[in-house]
Amino acid sequence: AKPRHTDLLDDLNPAQREAVTHAGSPLLVVAGAGSGKTRVLTRRIAYLLAERDVHPGQIMAITFTNKAAAEMRERVSDLVGRRANAMWVSTFHSMCVRILRREAKTLEMSSSFSIYDSDDTKRLITLVARDLDIDPKKYAARTLAVHISNLKNELIDPDTAVADAGNDLERRVAEVYVEYQRRLNQANAFDFDDLIMRTVELLQTFPDVAEYYRRRFRHVLVDEYQDTNHAQYTLIRELVGTETNEHGIEPAELCVVGDADQSIYAFRGATIRNIEEFERDFPNARTVLLEQNYRSTQTILNAANAVIARNPNRRAKRLWTDSGDGEKIVGYVADNEHDEAAFVAGEIDALADKGEADYSDVAVFYRTNNQSRVFEEIFIRLGLPYKVVGGVRFYERREVRDMLAYLRVLANPEDTVSLRRVLNVPKRGIGDRAEAVIATYAERERLSFAQALRGAVNGEIPLLNPRSAKAITGFVELLDELGEVVESGAEVADVLEAVLERTGYRAELEESDDPQDASRVENLTELVTVAREFTEFTAEVAGPDGELPEADPGVPEPGSLPAFLERVSLVADADSIPAADGGEDGDGHDAGVVTLMTVHTAKGLEYPVVFGTGWEDGIFPHMRALGDPAELAEERRLAYVAITRARKRLYVSRSMVRSAWGQPQMNPASRFLDELPAELVDWRRLAPSSSSGGFGSSGGSPRAATTWGSRGGGSTSSRSTSTSPFGKGWKDTVALKLDVGDRVSHDKYGLGTVVACDGAGPRATATIDFGAAGKVRLMLIGSVPMVKL
Ligand code: ATP
Ligand code: MG
Repeated sequence: AKPRHTDLLDDLNPAQREAVTHAGSPLLVVAGAGSGKTRVLTRRIAYLLAERDVHPGQIMAITFTNKAAAEMRERVSDLVGRRANAMWVSTFHSMCVRILRREAKTLEMSSSFSIYDSDDTKRLITLVARDLDIDPKKYAARTLAVHISNLKNELIDPDTAVADAGNDLERRVAEVYVEYQRRLNQANAFDFDDLIMRTVELLQTFPDVAEYYRRRFRHVLVDEYQDTNHAQYTLIRELVGTETNEHGIEPAELCVVGDADQSIYAFRGATIRNIEEFERDFPNARTVLLEQNYRSTQTILNAANAVIARNPNRRAKRLWTDSGDGEKIVGYVADNEHDEAAFVAGEIDALADKGEADYSDVAVFYRTNNQSRVFEEIFIRLGLPYKVVGGVRFYERREVRDMLAYLRVLANPEDTVSLRRVLNVPKRGIGDRAEAVIATYAERERLSFAQALRGAVNGEIPLLNPRSAKAITGFVELLDELGEVVESGAEVADVLEAVLERTGYRAELEESDDPQDASRVENLTELVTVAREFTEFTAEVAGPDGELPEADPGVPEPGSLPAFLERVSLVADADSIPAADGGEDGDGHDAGVVTLMTVHTAKGLEYPVVFGTGWEDGIFPHMRALGDPAELAEERRLAYVAITRARKRLYVSRSMVRSAWGQPQMNPASRFLDELPAELVDWRRLAPSSSSGGFGSSGGSPRAATTWGSRGGGSTSSRSTSTSPFGKGWKDTVALKLDVGDRVSHDKYGLGTVVACDGAGPRATATIDFGAAGKVRLMLIGSVPMVKL
């Protein structure tokens, strides 16, 4: 039965209701975290279908992750049923892939194109830079890749980049960009940034294509609008249009939601300009503000408000809730990162024991992926179930990438990066020299690498020695054989099995003595499982007759190799979050598992219990941001995101010493800790004051720390209401100026000699030889328990 109007609007506040029902002009919803922006978007879709007679096929909704897309689709399905299947609900990237598959020919590409991720991109750029004789020490591939990506995010094409290049770096970047782009085309591949840029190009260059999509999508909705970059903004504009065109097609209705305070992707070119100038970009736009928060306690909101208020040039807004103050925030200062992890684990256990939270209610946040390791170690030791989101992902493992490269070559023979990756994997006697000869030949004859390989088989490459030519012939025959397996309509998993078998890849790993190779075999088995499930899952969606709700040339045939590769290419960081467990609570958290993730990944999510860890200057805020106001503001927004994920309980912790590159390093407290109003935080454990004999001297074994508060030093409870997480003497210590050869006395390490100094200002560090205590690299700003002698 069709849901009644009132069902959809009942549990919304007046401002939310206005946003859901608004019609006839572009709509911007700006609001702080947890105020129901995503809920408004979902509800609006349901309302369009139920009350405004919009057909699902006319709706395009854009979310930040595939997971968010799946959740949104599910919620709308709950409200309107299977009709929801015809909607496009996807990320920017998936949506563009869909359009590009359909329109590839228009851009002179084939619809079997490959999608290059950042690793493929870096490989291709390395090849290009080498061929252009660019000194990798002066211009690293990674640097070139970042610059090219920035250009693409600004929609600057290679020719314009060349014309605009003003200095040596820009000229080099432009030169690489031109050649890189040429080779992407030749390889029939798009990189991630191309997916957006080339779709914009398509819509701008071919008005009939643009009109097709404008007729089709009458409603475009975008979540997390604050994180769109220039290219994505332009894409939206092209899709909806800003005025009625000559065929009388009016602009589509646009609805975007966002929060400038949660903009955390500036490094990918995101700009809050898109929010700030929405009304200028889209005439007649209406703006709706939401202020009531439905997620967190007032204590948590006060903390979030206080931190974000420190950012300059923002529009002031205050979040409030009517759900009460709730628990105080809990603070903890650990001796080292193991102690910190032990505290977190102990606290999670205690909450679970008391029945105050399930493991799945808990999320542990850190600033960078490498910080997950200590948590994993202790969680494993204690048998605490957990799941890491992101990090070194399955699809980034070497053996998995090797296999995917084979599959990509089979799907798209022109995919040069993948082809060259597997050319001699496993070793088959096609060495670097042979590869270089083929590459040069391809270059000279303007052939693709694949075509040149075939040339080698026919003896057309004179410089190639007969042994290499023979090996190449074998390789080409192998690919042809595998190609036949694909042609025969085999399932992806069976194609994969054939590759593992006939290339000898699996046999080689199985014969190896290296224990790592054993785990590689396991990963490959896992990949085959993934492929099997993929086929089964697709069959389920398609139904017994194999029909999808709508035949769409933008979507590869269900269950096919291209469909599989596309799925794998587009898994974003946040998508490896455990899938919903059939639970009715709808938050999609895995039953019984603690979630570990970076703050970036946590955007848009909510958890009853949140641990913010590593709140140290140099960690969070990140080292890079310490001397840079713009970056610092972005880190502060990140802190705001972290705090506002918590529904009921928030913990913040830092560690006095943390090892970095195998060396213990002192980090001062994060300035964000200082910005939390003192009355909101209950400090379970504080740093010992420097006058009482230094930190870590109370037998700093990580295990001993599972019971906090009862530790030596006598400083804990007495100062639990003090205004600062630092002991006396720890604050406002001025930076030490040291030179190589200086003698120092350190509270913990004793007497030492400075052997190296690096960086300047807030980034200054000294490496000090403490004799028996070893060499230690220390930061020199903030609170250093050390004096120059
Ligand atoms: P973020 O900025 O973090 O993305 P958001 O603004 O998108 O947050 P939502 O995730 O949509 O906020 O909502 C936050 C929580 O509040 C959700 O659990 C949602 O179900 C709940 N919520 C939103 N509006 C209401 C309402 N009117 N009544 C009850 N609960 C609500
Ligand atoms: Mg949201």
